[in-house]
Amino acid sequence: MLIFQSGKLLKDYTTIQIGGPAYEFISIDSIEGMQEVLRYCFTCNRDFFILGKGSNCLFHDDGFKGLVILNKISFCLIEEEIISVGAGYSFSYLGTQTAKKGLSGLEFASGIPGSVGGAIYMNSGVSSFETADCLQEVIFVGQSGEVEILSRDQIDFSYRFSSFQNRKGAIVAAKFKLTKTKDAKKKQLDLIGYRIKTQPYKDLSAGCIFRNPGKLSAGALIEKCGLKGTCIGDAEVSLIHANFIINKKKATASQVCALICLIHQTVKEKEGVDLKMEILYVPYCLDVSR
Ligand SMILES: Cc1cc2nc3c(=O)[nH]c(=O)nc-3n(C[C@H](O)[C@H](O)[C@H](O)COP(=O)(O)OP(=O)(O)OC[C@H]3O[C@@H](n4cnc5c(N)ncnc54)[C@H](O)[C@@H]3O)c2cc1C
Repeated sequence: MLIFQSGKLLKDYTTIQIGGPAYEFISIDSIEGMQEVLRYCFTCNRDFFILGKGSNCLFHDDGFKGLVILNKISFCLIEEEIISVGAGYSFSYLGTQTAKKGLSGLEFASGIPGSVGGAIYMNSGVSSFETADCLQEVIFVGQSGEVEILSRDQIDFSYRFSSFQNRKGAIVAAKFKLTKTKDAKKKQLDLIGYRIKTQPYKDLSAGCIFRNPGKLSAGALIEKCGLKGTCIGDAEVSLIHANFIINKKKATASQVCALICLIHQTVKEKEGVDLKMEILYVPYCLDVSR
């Protein structure tokens, strides 16, 4: 039976800790549960939003008018070099765990605070490493509750893009094929060491605000415009990495949005570059727009 909760504050489910109440909220921990809830939404024509670990989302201060489905499907099975994992599993932990076992391919995931489903949806990555690289298969529940098993070559991926961004439904599980190596642990530690040095790891944020335009770095462009440390209310352009906006304490979504507009406009005027958003702004009412 589906039990919906109302009034859950979305700030408690996002890494930037911003967002008002969800009209309805449900936590799902099985593939069958996801099928049931999506079938319900389809039949009743309900707007829904699939939430992983909320590390790439900025919800509206008024919250979300539809149903937020929190994906908590989090099993993990490691058989030799094949990893079968639920989409709600921690992507960061998966990276650390597999590297520790001498398996290479997901070392870069260590430190990315998302879920496996969110990482596939965003094709998350670090420098030249991307989630799609060692992905073998995805189990997807479509909007009317049907289960699809998609092999890697049935899915389009590019920089921070997967074809799931054009579909309604939920990624519920995945298989990765890794490679046995001796230096996986060292590579993972090097990558996380670099991350800790260069990103505002301890601050509240939603990750990089803008995508890197081609070979340029969005962070370097923002820094060049002198915007590091710029504040609107409690929202601040990080002093550590200019492509992060941090919530110093009580920042609101409107303050973050105003700061995003200011950065976008300044970089356009001074550097002639039209930056595109990487984080997902979720308005009170859908359509969800990026
Ligand atoms: C400190 C910090 C560092 C970060 N570093 C990096 C980095 O190095 N590289 C990088 O690429 N990203 C980075 N990020 C961004 C973020 O962690 C990733 O994009 C992450 O993969 C998002 O996963 P999530 O579960 O948090 O997704 P959410 O924020 O919960 O959701 C993001 C989008 O994915 C969709 N989604 C989530 N789960 C599913 C699912 N199961 N099925 C269908 N759709 C789904 C949501 O509907 C939403 O549209 C960072 C973020 C932070 C806060």
